[in-house]
Amino acid sequence: MYEDFASTLAATMWADYDEPPQRADDGPKIADLETIVVDGNFPWTIVTVEAEDGTIGIGEAYPSPGVHEIITDYLRPVLVGETPLDVERLYNLMRSSLSGRGSQWGVGTIAISGVEIALWDLAGKLLDQPVYQLLGGKMREEVQVYADCHAGEAMVTSADEGQEETTYKPEAYARAARLAVDDGFDIVKFDLDVPSGREIDRKSGHFDPPEIEHKRRVVEAVMDEVGADAEVAVDLHWNFSPETAERLCRALEGAGLAWVEDPIPPENVDAMRELKRRVDVTLLTGENRYERHGFRDLIENQAVDFLAPDVPKAGGIAETKKIANMAESYYQTLIPHNIGSPVATMATVQLGATIPNLYAIEYHAREVGWWEDLVVGEDLIQDGTIEVPDEPGLGIELDWDVVKEHEKQ
Ligand code: MG
Repeated sequence: MYEDFASTLAATMWADYDEPPQRADDGPKIADLETIVVDGNFPWTIVTVEAEDGTIGIGEAYPSPGVHEIITDYLRPVLVGETPLDVERLYNLMRSSLSGRGSQWGVGTIAISGVEIALWDLAGKLLDQPVYQLLGGKMREEVQVYADCHAGEAMVTSADEGQEETTYKPEAYARAARLAVDDGFDIVKFDLDVPSGREIDRKSGHFDPPEIEHKRRVVEAVMDEVGADAEVAVDLHWNFSPETAERLCRALEGAGLAWVEDPIPPENVDAMRELKRRVDVTLLTGENRYERHGFRDLIENQAVDFLAPDVPKAGGIAETKKIANMAESYYQTLIPHNIGSPVATMATVQLGATIPNLYAIEYHAREVGWWEDLVVGEDLIQDGTIEVPDEPGLGIELDWDVVKEHEKQ
């Protein structure tokens, strides 16, 4: 009944609304959409869009509840029978079809993002062109990748050989940083909103001086270890009030950090702009924002230095390019967020290849030993970079046996 409702809604409200432009031959039409969830360090939600001739485009949606239902119950009836080459028109059609049900932000935009990426991959395969070519061509041969050295279990496992550790010691951070830099990464990032071993009420968003001193010593240890060889960034995950964020950033001034990420909650651009005015560190935010509309005030207010849209969340490849273009007019640089599988990562690489204002993209799966095995062929990440592939679409072929092996049940 739910599917009937969705199909009827799509048929009655949107099929007539968007009459596709006519062309002599627009090739095979969209036949089906599906999702498969891979059990990585996050539930990586792979999206497939299949054309009538059997060609399959792959995308990835940010891990979120409800994505499968939105794609199969709502977007499938909207897209089946359409030409996959009209990616931008179909993006607008999907957005219109979910209007009033979350297509401006949140899980609706996330589902649309996953499908959009799959449509670009499918269009590229049907036209035998890489996605970057369809977007205007590439500006670089390779994209720099930074390593998220996730504090907590992952860092403890790699640095302390599986020992349980609840207190995050500066020397453990330094060891984890050295391991990542020795693996070829020129930028490493650490979570800094971690326990110091003292019991405090974190809900207040307030850190007292000993907590701030613990964070300062963590950064000092990492910089002493790798500061001459690499850049170091820290992530605060929106956990602090502006007063604590200011004191913490001041304690880190002079350390030479590449950036401080999400020091305060993400909603209030005025508060972020005021923090930027008060502290002498480079600030980054953006992973919790959607579409160019969600980035506009952040960009126009010049509230941070670096922007971190997440391609499988913010609207997909073309929408993130539009965010980048808007940011370019304020001389702002993108460092896209990415916690995904190789599919999300290569979607971000394709986007990154086409914009001038890209510095690096995130890699968040150092603890997942089979991340590279999901793709047929050589490892994607070599010496802290990913080469922009010239193969059609996203430029990768998934190893479906490995995907199925790790499918979340
Ligand atoms: Mg982050």
